[in-house]
Amino acid sequence: MKPGCPRLKCPSHKIPGPKSGSVIANGTFFRACDSRRVRRYICRSCGLNFSQSTGTPRYRQKRRRIIQPLYRLIASTLSQRRAAILLGVDKKTVVRYFRFIASECAKREKTRLIKYGGDRLKQLQFDDLETFEHTKLKPLSVALAVDPNTRKILGIQVSRMPAKGPLARKSVQKYGRRKDERNRGWNHLFKSLVPLVHPDAEFLSDQNPHYPSILRKHFPFAKHAVTPGGRGAVTGQGELKKLVFDPLFALNHTCAMLRANLSRLIRRTWCTTKNIRGLEDHLAIYVDYHNRVLTPE
Ligand SMILES: [Zn+2]
Repeated sequence: MKPGCPRLKCPSHKIPGPKSGSVIANGTFFRACDSRRVRRYICRSCGLNFSQSTGTPRYRQKRRRIIQPLYRLIASTLSQRRAAILLGVDKKTVVRYFRFIASECAKREKTRLIKYGGDRLKQLQFDDLETFEHTKLKPLSVALAVDPNTRKILGIQVSRMPAKGPLARKSVQKYGRRKDERNRGWNHLFKSLVPLVHPDAEFLSDQNPHYPSILRKHFPFAKHAVTPGGRGAVTGQGELKKLVFDPLFALNHTCAMLRANLSRLIRRTWCTTKNIRGLEDHLAIYVDYHNRVLTPE
């Protein structure tokens, strides 16, 4: 199908009828970066030359070939620097494409979630996972909700939180008081779940005292069951529990998968989150890979 003229002020937009009326094909060119032949167009109203990729998110990208492998590697425990070496590109190129892939994955995930609207979920598990930005004195909380039947991730939210325990004093001394954004994060997550989940669905979580009030705010008719956490098993990086039967298995298993498949979430790793955006982008890529490839439809 012929596209319309991409120039906003083009007189062809004022002519009634299909937008592509003034556009004609104008040969092709060979795009070396992915070995494709790309169609070129010309607008007869304003004389603009443009191509098939003008106006698309991938316009003017020069390393299209690394997008697919980078997407898979980043969702499979590889660090960005090692991905740069394996793919033969600069580490700054990897950062740029990492951000691009994350935005594409977030869009795709959004459209995937729309289909839950027709058949809303009756069961759900939620909890949070802790990590940090730059240093353990600046912890982060990753709230997530999982469908226990398919283990698909339905929502994920990163928020800042103050350091706890022995690190709390040192953290305040060095970096000042740290805002606790966890409540805002939970509210944001539950708000996004409202269109996907049945109003009287069953929610399962651990015994965190803050959960009931936040849940009631968004799902006043939902049933909320809690289960004691249990000790972490070494396999599953502390996320899988040493219980004979773990009612929160789907969620704990998903957290263990996050720990195993995101280089920055592995415990005792030297591959760490430097800023929140990096973690959010990495999670967006992984969530898409998890929901599309790693879990059955
Ligand atoms: Zn035009």
